[in-house]
Formats: sequence, structure tokens, C-alpha cells
Amino acid sequence: MKNVTIIGGGLSSLTASCYLAEKNFKVTIVEKNDHLGGRLSFFEKDGFVFDMGPSWYWMPEVFEDFFKDFDKDVSDYYNLKRLDPSYRFYLDDLMVDFSADLNDIFKEFEKIEPGSSLKLSAFLDDAKIKYDISLQKFILFPNKSIKEYLSIDVLKYFFKLDLFKSLRSHINNYFSNKKIKNFLEFPAMFLGGSPKNTPALYSLMNYGDIKKGTWYPEGGMYKIAEAFSSLSKELGVEHILGDPIVKLDIKNKSIKSAISKSGKIFNSDYFLAGLEYPFVQTKLLDEKYRSYNSNYWSKKHVAPSALIFYLGLSSKVKNIEHHNLFFDKDFDKHLIEIFDNKVLPSEPLFYICCPSKTDSSIVPNDDMENIFILIPIGPGSEDSQSIRDKYFDQVINRMEIITKQKIKNKIIVKKSFCVNDFVNRYNAYKGNAYGLANTLLQSAVFKPKIKDKIIRNLFYTGHFTVPGPGLPPAIISGKIASNEILKDIK
Ligand SMILES: Cc1cc2nc3c(=O)[nH]c(=O)nc-3n(C[C@H](O)[C@H](O)[C@H](O)COP(=O)(O)OP(=O)(O)OC[C@H]3O[C@@H](n4cnc5c(N)ncnc54)[C@H](O)[C@@H]3O)c2cc1C
Repeated sequence: MKNVTIIGGGLSSLTASCYLAEKNFKVTIVEKNDHLGGRLSFFEKDGFVFDMGPSWYWMPEVFEDFFKDFDKDVSDYYNLKRLDPSYRFYLDDLMVDFSADLNDIFKEFEKIEPGSSLKLSAFLDDAKIKYDISLQKFILFPNKSIKEYLSIDVLKYFFKLDLFKSLRSHINNYFSNKKIKNFLEFPAMFLGGSPKNTPALYSLMNYGDIKKGTWYPEGGMYKIAEAFSSLSKELGVEHILGDPIVKLDIKNKSIKSAISKSGKIFNSDYFLAGLEYPFVQTKLLDEKYRSYNSNYWSKKHVAPSALIFYLGLSSKVKNIEHHNLFFDKDFDKHLIEIFDNKVLPSEPLFYICCPSKTDSSIVPNDDMENIFILIPIGPGSEDSQSIRDKYFDQVINRMEIITKQKIKNKIIVKKSFCVNDFVNRYNAYKGNAYGLANTLLQSAVFKPKIKDKIIRNLFYTGHFTVPGPGLPPAIISGKIASNEILKDIK
């Protein structure tokens, strides 16, 4: 029986642990923090239960397919609810709900620009092709080399993906109204980039959130981490928590053992790094073993970090839904400031999640509200209490004006999370929130490789390698990494 030590216990690691354990590997996960799930994390304060990271459950079939591979269903672990509206958009002077019913969205588009519903329909038809081809044909490619794409069967689909055109120019081909363009460009920010440098392929996210919907696991997003952890345990994976790996012992270009802070020694045939790639390369490996040095990482376009506020409110908030995008200021200005000028945004856009609109189990009583405010900021941004306070005042004031009510006087629990917390809690490179951005020159074969180029028994998974940031990609990444380890023993 072969054994594998998985370093880090995020969603990609948990996924890989299940596939490898099912193939009779003896699997051990060693996690720095005292819980599994990585960024899928939560905390509880005075009866409020806050999801700390992901809030947007999308591409539900990726989760379903994972559980089906083990003869299970998502519903064996948690109950999913489709949100309606999928999300609310405040854009300039407009408030638009993206309903679960596409006909309602068509009506909203027609109000903004007559004739645009037909264009949206055509745009979504094209996005569906990208979504389906990606999931059915390409998604499990390890992207070791371009050769994977060089068969007639694959090539005929490849060009439909629009990997070399930007999302912005693709959207411009369909629409001229600036507001409509903003509605469709926003997912680029979730992929860590801007619509100017994100491939048009990712219009598949528009198809995903508009047609396939946004969902919510009852009890909170952390239920996903609990589900994957339970299955991993059921399959016999050993979980070691609260003990970071601090050293890798390497001989003859193979890792012999990983050593934890408490001094435990993990010997195994294979090592899978589910913690961030740059941390392994620059902090755990000596220079002679690094395939990608500090200079390489410093030139990469890393996903934004985030300034987050978790608020427990004593009474209900009007005029917001479960997911709310506050795009009342200039989208491009925010992107240029954080990515090009590398400064804090002067008038930030922000996102508010209010899961208590859907779930009363996460508030002390039904009259209260649980809110999460997220401001995307550049990776490596300066972080201090005074900066956090300044932004808090700015966004709360704007939220009060836009939603036409007092919020500040309802706050009974407040906590913030920013760059320094990402570094301390997850060893996140530059305090990023979700890995390496999926830009035109950082997608597919351009990502750091799943298999280490120098060390024979070291593999990687997670949001710095293929396919990229987000929960569904983390699941897919775990599956690709386990496939590559399985191929290696043959
Ligand atoms: C605020 C926020 C909002 C997000 N919103 C969404 C969303 O709405 N929808 C969505 O799909 N995605 C979202 N994401 C992105 C998504 O959460 C991540 O891309 C995904 O969870 C990454 O999973 P992972 O397994 O690659 O890494 P992680 O979850 O980061 O797991 C890595 C693990 O490695 C551990 N580790 C680090 N160093 C060591 C060490 N030395 N030894 C042992 N363990 C170590 C860390 O503690 C961590 O548990 C969001 C992320 C954030 C932060």
C-alpha cells in the first residue's frame, strides 16, 4: 500500500484525500489550523455564526459529481437551497435583481436598453457552449503541456473556448450599454483579474450564475467543509490538525519526510501540497530545489486580497438580498487602482452577503441579521486598524444611503479580517484571498504545474495551480492532482 502526506486541509486537499484513499492509499492530512476546509472557515460570536470566506455556491454539478464518484449525494451531507434572486445589483442609480427566472432578467435588460434581451440570450447561448465544453472536455486536463490540446477531437472544441480573447472585448461584441457591460463583467473580479485581462472563456461564469443559479447550503457554507471532511474520514483518511509543516527533508530529489512544528515526522511515498504553491517554493524548499523562485512569484498577477467586516445586527435590514453587489462607483477605477497603481481603492466597490435572509440558524433570533461586507483590495496592500476603520466608515455610510436606513446603531457584533490575517491564518502569498488570477497569460498550461519539476514525489493542488480560484475549481484541482499521483505509480 502506497502512502501520501497531504500538507494543508483546504477543499482541494480534502478532495484529493478522498480519491486517493478510495484507491487504497494510506492518506494523512496535516493542517496548520484547528479545522479542515481552509478558507472555508467560520467563527461563532454571541450566537451569530459567520462564514469567513466563500459565500457564493455556484456550479452545483461539480459538487454533485464529486459525491457521485463515491456513490453519495450532496443531500447525504447538506440541504441546498436555490436563491431567488440569485443576487442584487446596485449600479449607479439602478437596482436590478438577477432573478432565478431568466424571463425576469430579460425584462430588466429591456428596461435598460431595448433589444438587449435578445443579445443576452445569444450571449448566454455562447456561454453555455463554453461551460459545457469546459466541464465535459477540458476540465480534468492536467495542463502539463499544450500537447494535451493537439488532437483533432479536442481542437475542434478548443477554439470555441476563446482563451486568447478578453472577456471585455467578448462582451463588447454583444452590448454597447455600459451598465449592462458592468453586470456581465463583474465575475472577472471573482477570478482575481479584470475583464481586460480575463479570458472570454470565463463568460461561462455568467452562464453559471444567471442560468444555473446561486445556491446556499443550509447552516452555512462551512457545511461543505464538514461534508468533505466526513467523507474523507469515512474513507479512512487520518486528519492531523493544529500542526503546520515547517520543514521538508529531501534526499536525491525526493522528499523523505515532512516535519511539523510539534516535531512529528511524516514519512511517505508521495507528498501533496494543498497549501499555497509560493509558500512551499519560497519557504519550505531550499533554493536549489525551487522550480519557481521569488522573482517568478513577484511578477505574477495574484488575486486580490480583501478587507472583510463580519457584523451581527440587532434588527433586520431592508433593501438587501442574500447576495448584493454595490457597484455605485466606477468599476474600472477600482480595478486600475488595486491592480495597476497598486494602491488602496479611493471609492471601493463592495459586496454584501446577508445569509440570514435565507437561514435563521446563523443568528441568535429571527429578528437579527448576519452580514459580511467584502471590499476587494490589491494583494500585499497596507493593513492597519486605522485603514480598516476608515473603509468601514466609508462603506457603512454608503450602504446606509443606498439602502435608505440606519445600520450603525444596529451593530452588536463586529470583527474585521484583512491582509495580515490572510498571511497569519493561511500562509497566503501577499495576503491574497483566492490564489493566482485566471488571466490570459496565467490560465491552463501557463499555470504553475501540478507535478513538481525537480522533486520526484511532490505534487500540488489548490488555487495556485490548475484550474484556478474558487470552490468548484478547488474540487477539480484535487481530482486532477490525485489522478496525476495515480498515473505516477503505474
Ligand atoms: C473572502 C473569500 C471569499 C471567497 N468567495 C468565494 C465564493 O464566494 N465562491 C467560491 O467558489 N470561492 C470563493 N473564494 C475562493 C475559495 O475559497 C478558494 O479559492 C478555495 O477555498 C481554495 O481552496 P484551496 O484548497 O486551494 O486552499 P485553502 O482553502 O487556502 O487551503 C489551504 C490550507 O493549507 C493550510 N496551510 C497553510 N500552511 C500550512 C502548513 N505549513 N502546514 C499545513 N497546512 C498549511 C491552510 O491553513 C489552509 O487550511 C473566496 C475566498 C475568500 C478568502
